[in-house]
Amino acid sequence: MATHTGGLTATVPETGTAAVRISGLVRAFGERRVLDGLDLSLRAGEFVAMLGRSGSGKSTLLRALAGLDHDAGGEGELSAPDHVSVVFQDARLLPWKRVLANVTLGLSGADAQERARTALAEVGLAGREDAWPVELSGGEQQRVSLARSLVREPQLLLADEPFGALDALTRARMHTLLARLYERHRPAVLLVTHDVDEAIALADRVVVLDGGHIAADLPVDLAAPRRPGTPEYAVLRERLLVRLGVEVPSG
Ligand code: ADP
Ligand code: MG
Repeated sequence: MATHTGGLTATVPETGTAAVRISGLVRAFGERRVLDGLDLSLRAGEFVAMLGRSGSGKSTLLRALAGLDHDAGGEGELSAPDHVSVVFQDARLLPWKRVLANVTLGLSGADAQERARTALAEVGLAGREDAWPVELSGGEQQRVSLARSLVREPQLLLADEPFGALDALTRARMHTLLARLYERHRPAVLLVTHDVDEAIALADRVVVLDGGHIAADLPVDLAAPRRPGTPEYAVLRERLLVRLGVEVPSG
Protein backbone atom coordinates (compact mmCIF):
# COMPACT_ATOMS: atom_id res chain seq x y z
CA MET A 1 0.00 0.00 0.00
CA ALA A 2 1.38 3.41 -0.87
CA THR A 3 0.17 6.79 0.28
CA HIS A 4 1.37 10.18 -0.85
CA THR A 5 2.62 12.38 1.89
CA GLY A 6 4.01 15.81 1.22
CA GLY A 7 5.39 14.80 -2.16
CA LEU A 8 7.17 11.71 -0.84
CA THR A 9 5.78 8.24 -1.20
CA ALA A 10 5.56 6.33 2.04
CA THR A 11 5.03 2.62 1.93
CA VAL A 12 2.90 1.73 4.89
CA PRO A 13 3.18 -1.95 5.74
CA GLU A 14 0.03 -3.62 6.95
CA THR A 15 -0.48 -2.96 10.61
CA GLY A 16 0.11 -5.97 12.77
CA THR A 17 2.93 -7.32 10.64
CA ALA A 18 6.36 -7.51 12.24
CA ALA A 19 9.08 -5.15 11.03
CA VAL A 20 11.72 -6.71 13.25
CA ARG A 21 11.84 -10.15 14.78
CA ILE A 22 14.83 -11.14 16.87
CA SER A 23 15.01 -14.40 18.72
CA GLY A 24 17.82 -15.83 20.83
CA LEU A 25 20.35 -13.40 19.38
CA VAL A 26 23.92 -13.84 20.55
CA ARG A 27 26.70 -11.45 19.55
CA ALA A 28 30.16 -11.98 20.98
CA PHE A 29 33.55 -10.35 20.66
CA GLY A 30 36.01 -13.12 21.43
CA GLU A 31 34.81 -14.80 24.59
CA ARG A 32 32.63 -11.90 25.61
CA ARG A 33 28.92 -12.31 24.88
CA VAL A 34 27.62 -8.77 24.55
CA LEU A 35 24.16 -9.91 23.44
CA ASP A 36 23.19 -13.16 25.07
CA GLY A 37 19.89 -14.66 23.99
CA LEU A 38 18.12 -11.42 23.12
CA ASP A 39 14.48 -11.48 22.01
CA LEU A 40 12.79 -8.39 20.55
CA SER A 41 10.06 -7.68 18.03
CA LEU A 42 8.86 -4.44 16.51
CA ARG A 43 5.58 -4.15 14.67
CA ALA A 44 5.46 -2.29 11.38
CA GLY A 45 5.25 1.41 12.15
CA GLU A 46 6.01 0.96 15.84
CA PHE A 47 8.32 3.42 17.63
CA VAL A 48 10.48 1.72 20.25
CA ALA A 49 13.10 3.48 22.36
CA MET A 50 15.97 1.53 23.85
CA LEU A 51 17.76 2.53 27.03
CA GLY A 52 20.75 0.82 28.58
CA ARG A 53 23.97 1.53 30.37
CA SER A 54 27.03 2.44 28.38
CA GLY A 55 28.58 -0.75 27.05
CA SER A 56 25.38 -2.79 27.41
CA GLY A 57 25.36 -3.61 23.69
CA LYS A 58 22.89 -1.12 22.22
CA SER A 59 25.11 -0.20 19.27
CA THR A 60 26.01 -3.85 18.79
CA LEU A 61 22.31 -4.65 18.42
CA LEU A 62 21.74 -1.81 15.95
CA ARG A 63 24.72 -2.92 13.90
CA ALA A 64 23.33 -6.45 13.81
CA LEU A 65 19.99 -5.11 12.56
CA ALA A 66 21.70 -2.96 9.94
CA GLY A 67 23.87 -5.85 8.79
CA LEU A 68 27.02 -3.95 9.77
CA ASP A 69 28.42 -6.37 12.34
CA HIS A 70 30.74 -8.59 10.38
CA ASP A 71 33.32 -8.39 13.17
CA ALA A 72 31.00 -10.08 15.70
CA GLY A 73 30.41 -13.79 16.11
CA GLY A 74 27.01 -15.11 17.04
CA GLU A 75 23.89 -17.10 16.57
CA GLY A 76 20.13 -16.61 16.76
CA GLU A 77 17.41 -15.45 14.42
CA LEU A 78 17.00 -11.94 13.14
CA SER A 79 14.70 -10.60 10.49
CA ALA A 80 14.60 -6.97 9.40
CA PRO A 81 13.04 -5.23 6.39
CA ASP A 82 14.93 -4.72 3.13
CA HIS A 83 14.88 -0.95 3.48
CA VAL A 84 16.74 0.06 6.63
CA SER A 85 18.24 3.48 7.32
CA VAL A 86 20.64 4.35 10.12
CA VAL A 87 21.20 7.69 11.84
CA PHE A 88 24.25 8.00 14.08
CA GLN A 89 25.24 10.48 16.76
CA ASP A 90 27.48 12.30 14.31
CA ALA A 91 25.84 13.19 11.01
CA ARG A 92 28.58 11.51 8.95
CA LEU A 93 28.18 13.84 5.98
CA LEU A 94 30.80 13.82 3.25
CA PRO A 95 32.57 17.17 3.71
CA TRP A 96 33.50 17.47 0.05
CA LYS A 97 29.90 17.20 -1.14
CA ARG A 98 27.25 19.88 -0.85
CA VAL A 99 24.11 19.27 1.22
CA LEU A 100 21.93 18.15 -1.70
CA ALA A 101 24.60 15.75 -2.98
CA ASN A 102 24.90 14.28 0.51
CA VAL A 103 21.20 13.49 0.47
CA THR A 104 21.12 12.08 -3.07
CA LEU A 105 24.22 9.96 -2.45
CA GLY A 106 23.48 6.46 -3.71
CA LEU A 107 19.93 7.37 -4.77
CA SER A 108 18.86 6.26 -8.21
CA GLY A 109 16.03 7.45 -10.44
CA ALA A 110 15.38 10.57 -12.48
CA ASP A 111 13.53 12.16 -9.59
CA ALA A 112 16.33 11.69 -7.03
CA GLN A 113 17.15 15.40 -6.88
CA GLU A 114 13.53 16.38 -6.50
CA ARG A 115 12.97 13.83 -3.75
CA ALA A 116 16.07 15.06 -1.94
CA ARG A 117 14.86 18.67 -2.18
CA THR A 118 11.51 17.65 -0.74
CA ALA A 119 13.19 15.77 2.11
CA LEU A 120 15.41 18.77 2.89
CA ALA A 121 12.33 21.00 2.96
CA GLU A 122 10.69 18.55 5.35
CA VAL A 123 13.54 18.91 7.82
CA GLY A 124 13.46 22.69 7.52
CA LEU A 125 16.49 23.10 5.25
CA ALA A 126 14.91 24.40 2.05
CA GLY A 127 17.35 26.86 0.50
CA ARG A 128 20.44 25.19 2.03
CA GLU A 129 20.88 22.63 -0.77
CA ASP A 130 24.12 24.20 -2.01
CA ALA A 131 25.72 24.71 1.39
CA TRP A 132 28.80 22.74 2.41
CA PRO A 133 28.43 20.57 5.53
CA VAL A 134 31.01 22.68 7.38
CA GLU A 135 28.73 25.71 6.97
CA LEU A 136 25.97 24.02 8.99
CA SER A 137 25.48 23.82 12.75
CA GLY A 138 25.50 20.42 14.45
CA GLY A 139 21.72 20.41 14.58
CA GLU A 140 21.45 21.29 10.89
CA GLN A 141 23.91 18.56 9.97
CA GLN A 142 21.80 16.09 11.88
CA ARG A 143 18.75 17.34 9.96
CA VAL A 144 20.57 16.55 6.72
CA SER A 145 21.30 13.11 8.08
CA LEU A 146 17.58 12.63 8.85
CA ALA A 147 16.67 13.81 5.34
CA ARG A 148 19.20 11.39 3.85
CA SER A 149 17.60 8.55 5.81
CA LEU A 150 13.99 9.42 5.08
CA VAL A 151 14.43 10.03 1.36
CA ARG A 152 15.15 6.31 1.14
CA GLU A 153 11.72 5.64 2.64
CA PRO A 154 12.95 3.03 5.08
CA GLN A 155 10.61 0.50 6.61
CA LEU A 156 12.92 0.56 9.60
CA LEU A 157 14.80 3.58 10.94
CA LEU A 158 17.63 2.78 13.35
CA ALA A 159 18.86 5.76 15.34
CA ASP A 160 21.89 5.44 17.64
CA GLU A 161 21.81 8.32 20.14
CA PRO A 162 21.13 10.70 17.24
CA PHE A 163 20.71 13.79 19.41
CA GLY A 164 23.27 12.94 22.09
CA ALA A 165 25.78 15.56 20.93
CA LEU A 166 23.30 18.43 20.60
CA ASP A 167 22.53 21.15 23.13
CA ALA A 168 19.26 20.90 25.07
CA LEU A 169 17.31 23.43 23.02
CA THR A 170 18.37 21.95 19.68
CA ARG A 171 17.59 18.50 21.04
CA ALA A 172 14.06 19.57 21.97
CA ARG A 173 13.54 20.93 18.46
CA MET A 174 14.82 17.69 16.96
CA HIS A 175 12.33 15.72 19.08
CA THR A 176 9.48 17.73 17.59
CA LEU A 177 10.89 17.26 14.10
CA LEU A 178 11.40 13.51 14.50
CA ALA A 179 7.88 13.09 15.89
CA ARG A 180 6.46 14.95 12.88
CA LEU A 181 8.50 12.97 10.36
CA TYR A 182 7.48 9.75 12.06
CA GLU A 183 3.78 10.67 11.86
CA ARG A 184 4.19 11.38 8.17
CA HIS A 185 6.31 8.45 7.06
CA ARG A 186 5.55 5.80 9.67
CA PRO A 187 8.64 3.63 9.53
CA ALA A 188 9.25 1.30 12.42
CA VAL A 189 11.80 3.09 14.61
CA LEU A 190 14.36 1.76 17.05
CA LEU A 191 15.80 4.78 18.84
CA VAL A 192 18.75 4.24 21.17
CA THR A 193 19.03 6.99 23.73
CA HIS A 194 20.46 7.58 27.20
CA ASP A 195 17.75 10.14 27.87
CA VAL A 196 14.74 8.69 29.69
CA ASP A 197 12.61 11.75 28.92
CA GLU A 198 13.45 11.53 25.22
CA ALA A 199 12.37 7.90 25.25
CA ILE A 200 9.06 8.65 26.96
CA ALA A 201 8.37 11.70 24.78
CA LEU A 202 8.75 9.87 21.48
CA ALA A 203 8.19 6.13 21.81
CA ASP A 204 5.20 3.79 21.92
CA ARG A 205 7.29 1.41 24.00
CA VAL A 206 10.52 1.66 25.95
CA VAL A 207 12.84 -1.30 26.39
CA VAL A 208 15.91 -1.58 28.60
CA LEU A 209 18.92 -3.60 27.47
CA ASP A 210 20.85 -5.14 30.35
CA GLY A 211 22.90 -8.30 30.76
CA GLY A 212 22.74 -8.99 27.04
CA HIS A 213 18.97 -9.18 26.83
CA ILE A 214 15.83 -7.07 27.13
CA ALA A 215 15.45 -6.60 30.88
CA ALA A 216 12.34 -4.40 30.73
CA ASP A 217 9.71 -3.72 28.12
CA LEU A 218 7.18 -1.05 29.07
CA PRO A 219 4.43 0.51 26.96
CA VAL A 220 4.09 4.30 27.08
CA ASP A 221 0.39 4.67 27.75
CA LEU A 222 0.40 8.40 28.32
CA ALA A 223 -1.89 10.93 26.70
CA ALA A 224 -0.27 13.49 24.39
CA PRO A 225 1.40 15.85 24.95
CA ARG A 226 3.55 13.80 27.28
CA ARG A 227 4.91 16.31 29.69
CA PRO A 228 6.75 15.58 32.91
CA GLY A 229 4.67 16.52 35.92
CA THR A 230 1.78 14.08 35.73
CA PRO A 231 1.76 11.18 38.22
CA GLU A 232 1.66 8.61 35.36
CA TYR A 233 4.73 10.15 33.77
CA ALA A 234 6.60 10.12 37.07
CA VAL A 235 5.75 6.46 37.71
CA LEU A 236 6.98 5.35 34.28
CA ARG A 237 10.12 7.49 34.52
CA GLU A 238 10.98 6.05 37.92
CA ARG A 239 10.43 2.46 36.79
CA LEU A 240 12.81 3.01 33.90
CA LEU A 241 15.44 4.71 36.05
CA VAL A 242 15.32 1.85 38.56
CA ARG A 243 15.81 -0.60 35.69
CA LEU A 244 18.85 1.40 34.65
CA GLY A 245 20.29 1.09 38.13
CA VAL A 246 19.77 4.74 39.03
CA GLU A 247 18.79 5.30 42.65
CA VAL A 248 15.63 7.35 42.73
CA PRO A 249 15.19 9.42 45.88
CA SER A 250 11.82 8.74 47.52
CA GLY A 251 9.38 11.49 48.34
P1 ADP B 1 26.60 0.57 23.92
O1 ADP B 1 26.24 1.06 22.56
O2 ADP B 1 25.42 0.05 24.69
O3 ADP B 1 27.32 1.60 24.74
P2 ADP B 1 28.30 -1.25 22.47
O4 ADP B 1 27.36 -2.09 21.73
O5 ADP B 1 29.02 -0.20 21.71
O6 ADP B 1 27.59 -0.65 23.77
O7 ADP B 1 29.43 -2.17 23.10
C1 ADP B 1 29.11 -3.27 23.94
C2 ADP B 1 30.38 -3.97 24.35
O8 ADP B 1 30.97 -4.61 23.22
C3 ADP B 1 31.44 -3.04 24.92
O9 ADP B 1 32.08 -3.68 25.98
C4 ADP B 1 32.38 -2.85 23.76
O10 ADP B 1 33.68 -2.59 24.22
C5 ADP B 1 32.30 -4.18 23.04
N1 ADP B 1 32.56 -4.02 21.60
C6 ADP B 1 31.81 -3.32 20.74
N2 ADP B 1 32.31 -3.39 19.50
C7 ADP B 1 33.41 -4.17 19.57
C8 ADP B 1 34.38 -4.65 18.62
N3 ADP B 1 34.30 -4.31 17.32
N4 ADP B 1 35.38 -5.41 19.09
C9 ADP B 1 35.46 -5.75 20.40
N5 ADP B 1 34.58 -5.36 21.32
C10 ADP B 1 33.58 -4.57 20.93
MG1 MG C 1 26.50 2.91 21.61
